[in-house]
Amino acid sequence: MCNFTQREYSCGHYRWIASQWCREYTLTHKRCQPDVTDWEYKAEVICGECKAKARALHGPYVAWEGMIKRSPLIERLLAL
Ligand SMILES: [Zn+2]
Ligand SMILES: [Zn+2]
Repeated sequence: MCNFTQREYSCGHYRWIASQWCREYTLTHKRCQPDVTDWEYKAEVICGECKAKARALHGPYVAWEGMIKRSPLIERLLAL
């Protein structure tokens, strides 16, 4: 069995991070039953999936808002 660390994120999701591959896996590259030997909690971090979701939700809006505020050209066009 391979050794895994269960890493929990502040969003509630968790990932298994391999800490040590067993001999069988290094030889065959077949996934075996994971053996979770360690556990860690990342209170400040959200998982990659949630990060991507947050970026998709807020990213374009924030960029657009910043552009309106910063660009005199767009302000002039909106004032017409
Ligand atoms: Zn293994
Ligand atoms: Zn998440």
